[in-house]
This record gives sequence, C-alpha cells and structure tokens, in this order.
Amino acid sequence: MQKVLTKKSLPQWVKKLLSYTIYTPVEEDDHWNFVATDNPEDINLDYPLTTLSPKKIIFPQREIFLEFCDSTEGNPEVKEVLPAEKSAVIFGVRPCDAKALTFTDKVFGGDFKDIYYWKRRNQTTLVGISCNTPPYTNCFCVSVNGSPYSKEGLDILLTDLGDKYFVETYTKKGEKLLNLAKGLFKSPTAKDKKDLEKIRIDSKKKIKRQIKNIKKIPPKLKEMFDSPFWDEESMSCLRCGICTYLCPTCHCFDINDEITSSSPIKGKRIRTWDTCQFPDFTMHSSGHNPRPDKASRLRQRILHKFLYFVDRYQNYQCTGCGRCISLCPVGIDLLEVLDKVRDYGS
Ligand code: SF4
Ligand code: SF4
Repeated sequence: MQKVLTKKSLPQWVKKLLSYTIYTPVEEDDHWNFVATDNPEDINLDYPLTTLSPKKIIFPQREIFLEFCDSTEGNPEVKEVLPAEKSAVIFGVRPCDAKALTFTDKVFGGDFKDIYYWKRRNQTTLVGISCNTPPYTNCFCVSVNGSPYSKEGLDILLTDLGDKYFVETYTKKGEKLLNLAKGLFKSPTAKDKKDLEKIRIDSKKKIKRQIKNIKKIPPKLKEMFDSPFWDEESMSCLRCGICTYLCPTCHCFDINDEITSSSPIKGKRIRTWDTCQFPDFTMHSSGHNPRPDKASRLRQRILHKFLYFVDRYQNYQCTGCGRCISLCPVGIDLLEVLDKVRDYGS
C-alpha cells in the first residue's frame, strides 16, 4: 500500500495508536536512543542514528528468564517470567537496523526458537524512516547489499518529502496501523512518486564509504586464519567490547543465576548480552581459553561477520550502520581492516 501523510498529521496518527507501547528516538546526554513515550508530540523522525539499535527492545541487554525460591530444600518453586503481553510500535527505525533484525531472526529462529525473542518480535511493528542523507559519515549499507530505503525487516517505511511523508506498508501489521487512522492517509500524486524516486537516487549517491570487491573477502579470510595480520590489526584494541555491544547484528549472550536471598535461597535466572571481545567469553572451566589474545578475538569478530555467517546464511552479518567504526575509542576502522584483508598478499 502506498499513501502520503502530512507531517502535521503525524501526532494525530500516533494518538490512535496509544493502546501500543510507542518508542521513538530521543536525545539523552548527547546520544540518541529509543525510548517509550505516551506523548504523540514526542515522535521525532529527524535524528542521526541511535547509539543502540532497536535490537535492544526485541532482545534486551538484560532480561529475567525465571525466578526461583528453594524454601522447601531440594524442591524449589520455579516461575517462568515471559515478556509482557503488549503490542509495541517503534517509530524511526533506520533501514540498516531493520535489516539487522532479519539476521537475529535467523539466529533466534533456527532449530531452537527463542520464545523470549519471538514474543517481542511478533508483537512489535517497525515503522522505518528512509535515510535521505546518511546519518553517519561511516555508513556503508550499499556495500553490504543494503540501501538507505531498504524495506527488509520493516512493516512500514516513511520517506520525508518535505512537508509530508511518503508511506509504504509491506505487512499486515503495517496495514493495521494505517487502518487505525484511515482518514489521515491520502493517495500519493504523480509528483509525490517522482519526488520519492529522485530522493532515492540522491540518497544512494550520498553514501561515500564503501567496500570494494567485497566478494573477494570471504575466500581471503579462509586463507588468513593463522596470519600474523591479526596481531598487527588488534594491537591498539582495548577489548572494551563497544564494537559488538553496539552492533545491531551481534547476538551473543550469557545466562547467570543471581541470588537475592540465601535463606531461603531465592533468585533469578538472567540473560545478559555478552561479547566475543572479552577474554572470559571463551574461557573453559578447565582454565583453557581457545581465544586467549586480542588477535584471535578480532579475527573471530571479522570472520564471523564476513565468512562464517556468509557460509551459513548467505549474507554478510553486517548492515553497514557504521557504529563500530564511529564509536570505537581507538579508531579501529572495519572498512580499513577489510580493505587490507582483500589486498593481503597481493
Ligand atoms: S570497540 Fe575498538 S577497542 Fe573496543 S573492543 Fe572493539 S575494536 Fe577493540
Ligand atoms: S559490524 Fe559494524 S558496521 Fe556492521 S552492522 Fe555491526 S556495528 Fe554496524
């Protein structure tokens, strides 16, 4: 379905959606983040890129799986804690971040279906905003088969046409949101369609960073497992994990029991994000660590995204959002690393 919505009608549309939990990008302490709001006037679609992608809403950084209480010694009561039954709408999802969710869908929806992830995913509608101008100088979505107006993973995509949005729906969930405020949406004119086309062509041209000959990278990585290249490239890494915590496609986690009382024993089983950049991530209980140094951990990050995931799912596990480049505290630049990989030994 294709429609247009005037900008001044946006809050009126959101007002009709207040039975949902509504998320919007909000600026907090110099960072943009998705935050829940019940004020339709708060919706802001003119923002750069959130520090954390909307992955944090579907797959939270910390979540309780179950609570337990062993008051009868050896016969503990266990209560499963599932995500709340409440539909949600996320406004302002960037196309690269929506595409990233199609990758986490594969991981959490394989042989084992993660009910915590899927409960949130299924009850959330994603309203995207096209990137008429790249939000980061380090954006490179086009190099990894994406685009500033990709619809992958989205239910609705809005494109800013000046005083109105061009609105496209791709799923039943998306259509439902429009049907809740039918009178506000009008059919696009021929000029609206022409403007959309021009904006799309221009938006791709504005993306300056790229990976040349990306297809050469996976086979090259296969040959470079034991290369000293990884020692050199990882020398400045602080192993802070920012590159993976902020990545919309990274999905590793740990599960721990947190004891809140010792008599009787009471506690919670908790899942938290984890990262392959931490030394403990692969530490065995024997004390052996198969990835004992920064070099093997940087190699893992790059090979997972540009070799293993490609072998398994026929996609780079990267959507070109640029966060890991812009926010690495020591300036390790993924695209420079990949350029060197491609040209290594030539
Ligand atoms: S963000 Fe940079 S310094 Fe931190 S772990 Fe990643 S590569 Fe290393
Ligand atoms: S690897 Fe870096 S550029 Fe690619 S999706 Fe993750 S954070 Fe974004």
